[in-house]
Amino acid sequence: MALEEKREKRPPVTPMMIEEEAALRNGSRGLTPGPWAEAAGPRPRTTERHIAVHKRLVLGFAVSILALLAVTMIAVLLSVRFEECGAAADGPPRASGNGSLSGAARQPPGAGQPPGQPEEEARGVEAAEEEEEEEEWQRRQELPPWARPRLPRHLRPLHYNLMLSAFMENFTFSGEVNVQLEVRNASRYIVLHAHRMHIEAVRVAEDKLAGGVRVARTFFYPQTQVFVVVLNRSLEVQRSYNLKIIYNALIENELLGFFRSSYVLHGERRFLAVTQFSPTHARKAFPCFDEPIYKATFKISIRHQATFLSLSNMPVETSVFEEDGWVTDHFSQTPLMSTYYLAWAVCNFTYRETVTKSGVVVRLYARPDAIRRGSGDYALNITRSLIEFYEDYFKVPYSLPKLDLLAVPKHPYAAMENWGLSVFVEQRILLDPSISSILYLLDVTMVIVHELCHQWFGDLVTPVWWEDVWLKEGFAHYFEFVGTDYLYPGWNMEKQRFLTDVLHEVMLLDGLASSHPVSQEVQQATDIDRVFDWIAYKKGAALIRMLANFMGHSVFQMGLQALKRVGKSVNIQEVMDQWTLQMGYPVITILGNETTDNIIVISQERFVYDSDAKPKDPSRGDNSYLWQIPLTIAVGNTSHISSEAIIWVSNKSEHHRIPAFEEAGWLLGNINQTGYFRVNYDIRNWRLLINQLTRNHEVISVSNRAGLIDDAFNLARAGYLPQNIPLEIIRYLSEEKDFLPWHAASRALYPLDKLLDRTENYNIFNEYILRQVASMYLKLGWPMNNLNKSLVQASYQHEELRREVIMLACSFGNKHCHQQAATLISDWISSNRNRIPLNVRDIVYCTGVSLMDEDVWEFIWMKFHSTTAVSEKKILLEALTCSDDRNLLNRLLNLSLNSEVVLDQDAIDVIIHVARNPHGRDLAWKFFREKWKILNARYGEALFMNSKLVSGVTEFLNTEGELRELKNFIKSYEGGAAVSFSRAVETVEANVRWQRLYKEELFHWLRKSLTH
Ligand SMILES: [Zn+2]
Repeated sequence: MALEEKREKRPPVTPMMIEEEAALRNGSRGLTPGPWAEAAGPRPRTTERHIAVHKRLVLGFAVSILALLAVTMIAVLLSVRFEECGAAADGPPRASGNGSLSGAARQPPGAGQPPGQPEEEARGVEAAEEEEEEEEWQRRQELPPWARPRLPRHLRPLHYNLMLSAFMENFTFSGEVNVQLEVRNASRYIVLHAHRMHIEAVRVAEDKLAGGVRVARTFFYPQTQVFVVVLNRSLEVQRSYNLKIIYNALIENELLGFFRSSYVLHGERRFLAVTQFSPTHARKAFPCFDEPIYKATFKISIRHQATFLSLSNMPVETSVFEEDGWVTDHFSQTPLMSTYYLAWAVCNFTYRETVTKSGVVVRLYARPDAIRRGSGDYALNITRSLIEFYEDYFKVPYSLPKLDLLAVPKHPYAAMENWGLSVFVEQRILLDPSISSILYLLDVTMVIVHELCHQWFGDLVTPVWWEDVWLKEGFAHYFEFVGTDYLYPGWNMEKQRFLTDVLHEVMLLDGLASSHPVSQEVQQATDIDRVFDWIAYKKGAALIRMLANFMGHSVFQMGLQALKRVGKSVNIQEVMDQWTLQMGYPVITILGNETTDNIIVISQERFVYDSDAKPKDPSRGDNSYLWQIPLTIAVGNTSHISSEAIIWVSNKSEHHRIPAFEEAGWLLGNINQTGYFRVNYDIRNWRLLINQLTRNHEVISVSNRAGLIDDAFNLARAGYLPQNIPLEIIRYLSEEKDFLPWHAASRALYPLDKLLDRTENYNIFNEYILRQVASMYLKLGWPMNNLNKSLVQASYQHEELRREVIMLACSFGNKHCHQQAATLISDWISSNRNRIPLNVRDIVYCTGVSLMDEDVWEFIWMKFHSTTAVSEKKILLEALTCSDDRNLLNRLLNLSLNSEVVLDQDAIDVIIHVARNPHGRDLAWKFFREKWKILNARYGEALFMNSKLVSGVTEFLNTEGELRELKNFIKSYEGGAAVSFSRAVETVEANVRWQRLYKEELFHWLRKSLTH
């Protein structure tokens, strides 16, 4: 309470400073009841509760260091640097000890608000000392400590006391941070991150002995987003100091830092404020050492109007109410943690709660109407099970006393794993079982599995620096499948859907010459967002899965280095380095030998879609890429397949003897597609495989059937294989009763469809696909209206297969499918009761909008506005992009930028979906170019969204004219998103090249095949 009063009546800066300065000098800090005195240093409350919590945390950490062996061993194997629970790094570039810094000549750009009080008297001496320092830096070819990409390591924060006041009526906040610093090397400079804030006052004092250290001056250095405090004397080694900064800033209307968003309840707009700090945005909310290596403890207090509630990583310890309707929540001290997963929120949400077996209190906070409807219950229930799952898997208990899940309307990512307070965008956590599809349920489930995995792998064990992000993200992404299998054992996610959704998906991206290694060098802050891309997540996951498979899952879980399956000794670190430090992936070609039956030739080369594309690294031709590849291989004949053997392929080309290889038999590589590479064969072997699939496909495993389809389509797209081979393979699908191969085919056909959908012969392709789909469509039929049936009970494989086939039938124009969709929509409009089966609603809405007149579009538009269920809102909005009517598409594009109508993160999806529609592709492309400034300003900083937009709008451009437009646009536009644009150019060039080289070959074969 004392704090608030003082903060409320805070005197103007200068008098207070002088007073405090005097008090500090007189060594009477402990006696002076000033805010500085109370706030100095970490003063954890010694209440019983705190001790209990603290003990538990210490215990938790001790156990975790031992038991996280599994995970850290994997990290070691993968040759990455992970930090165990707060060990700090060594080896600072030592900043000079004595001397000081001032004077106009040295004033760095961005200086200009010196909040401390400059000490004018020592200027002459300081200027001389400063020159010395400058010379010293030059001699050592070093930048000044504030200009370096990483913080100088002479200081280490031990503890932060952070007191915030959030003013929701004008969206500002003020803060006072007290950082306890340990000095590792003497220096006069305190350099820490601070961005977009106004600093009012700065104080430095010695912690143990009373006495201030005079601040000579302070300045911002915006290039590295740091704030520099120059002191009159050096901070001494091994001593601990206290840095206090008083500041204020805006609660921004954007997506990063401490930002606001809103929702409508009972016709009234309500606001909330929440944080997103990962990777480098904590510095917008408080001055801090904003690098993951600087783990510290945090004690946070948030003052807000009592009509709101506040949340943070830890539970509230005490709340102090004031008479004027304000309250201050004091949160318990956190364990050691990095700044990027610190979090807080101020909102007027309500919650539901559950408790795990081990006593962790889990709450889900959301809009009151969503909580009342029970939309958070699903997430809450699976979270409880998943905490139990992870506690068992990692053999480490969850380390905090509580976990809050917060569902917010607006967020740059699907979710963020802040320790103890994970934040989710509503669409990825709220679920109304009565109106959600399996796919939606799967999305929600997997995001939650992912974020919970990070509570261990990410929050407890944290990468030292951002180039290792792929490991934490790859691991969590891989676990989305493992964890979902735990919840739904029959779904076989890790063995099946992982292939289509991760492996096949990322091989599309990583097959571009402009790709990048999964482990990326990160030099400066602006590079950091770049590492959070699908390569990091999906390739990371695919590599971890490959490793788990060739090590064996149980060994992998134990984290022990044993390779019993491998005949020769393989250095895992060397193997993994090749996969993580080289971009792209290999295509293995297996050729049978004409003369000697049992000998095959296995060669490897880097797979690229466009062999004409300029290599990103000109010093390295594609020829120099080499991997050690764990190639599993099996031979088969009409009714039988051998057990797999593993061959480590490490040369460009190798001969191998395959003992059981008969003349009429076929070879199959990459068994169950556990490896991160493609396999090509001679045409004879492809033919034998196609025959096998047609006669008895079950000899080949489900995952290999899906793998053959994906490999064949992509090998053909890149020109490694004749265009007819993939189209011949999918003929067997009429007999395929498993979901996965259909899903793989549907996904592989999609880009091909987009390459052809504006060509004059498109109907030939269309006709061919329809023929392959027709019989299965008839066999499976439509689902019944399952309004009263619980989704989880539904047979996932069967329903997903039916959905996939209906989607193919409707999108390629099956007449029955179209009629059925139109009937269902008409029934909805006339009865005003939506009886459309949940799992196909998106297909029906989209088909209805594309076939039927404007009234249907208006009807869906109206429903989009009136529905409050987030899953339904999402598919209604996407359906609007399916129209053939260019006026409606244009109208929608323009409306998408109105944040009141379409949420910021959804606007991107609208534009991308219009671009996928052949009738809207040019509209979206034009809209994108015209609005680029607005879009880039809105999403630029959240690079992930920006690059999603750039690739989504451009990936299906495929004419020479469009390629020219793209290049001209990039020329006229300067800065930012350069990586996304170079990828876009390569994709469009590959599209154009495919049209030029292979389109006719494809149509030629299709014509011939259809007349037979
Ligand atoms: Zn993640």
